[in-house]
Amino acid sequence: MEILSIGNSVLNLFFPERCLNCDQVIAPGNPLCVRCTADLPFTHWKPGKSNLAYQKLKPLCNIQWAHSLLVFRHDNVTRKLLHYLKYHGHLNIGRLLAEKTSSMIELSDFQGIIPIPVHPAKLKKRGYNQVIPYAETLADNAGIPLLVDFLHRVENNPSQVFKNREKRLNSIQNAFDIHHQTLEGNYLLVDDVLTTGATLSTCVNLIRSKTKAKFAVMTMACTV
Ligand SMILES: [Zn+2]
Repeated sequence: MEILSIGNSVLNLFFPERCLNCDQVIAPGNPLCVRCTADLPFTHWKPGKSNLAYQKLKPLCNIQWAHSLLVFRHDNVTRKLLHYLKYHGHLNIGRLLAEKTSSMIELSDFQGIIPIPVHPAKLKKRGYNQVIPYAETLADNAGIPLLVDFLHRVENNPSQVFKNREKRLNSIQNAFDIHHQTLEGNYLLVDDVLTTGATLSTCVNLIRSKTKAKFAVMTMACTV
């Protein structure tokens, strides 16, 4: 028994990391194997005004352009990855997606990156904001500041899942505030998934009503 126990400890110690999608053994630190990384459902959009992300946000707020890295479907790998990122602390997923984004889009012209915040109560419970590893890596790669304290969440909304579009928009309208009002120039607002655009457009409209900042929007994924 003792030998078995030691054996298990050693096995656990050296238990190899596995791809979150296909379960294949992979090099430590990566969420996915090389093949699953290459096979990610990229949108292949151009950052601009012709893609679906911009079309979703255009009626709701004034932005320069929008872009999403991955296609989000209820049965695809994106959903699985963002679930692991948000609920199981696999923060390296955010970093991987940021590296992919940085290799495709030049972001150094922005004055800074603003991540969509989570409510302090949720932050305390979960221990992290799932958007930060993505936003932080984008900012580092572009050599621009990450503004983590500018925008904050003042209302902890219950799950949005069962609300229709109109109710989602109404319930989120007063959920955010900003800490100071001296923001000028071009900024990139970053979130995990773009669905209806209610959250992102609320933040854009709030900040634009109180500052002279202009915005583009980048998300890890977009529902199609
Ligand atoms: Zn794999």
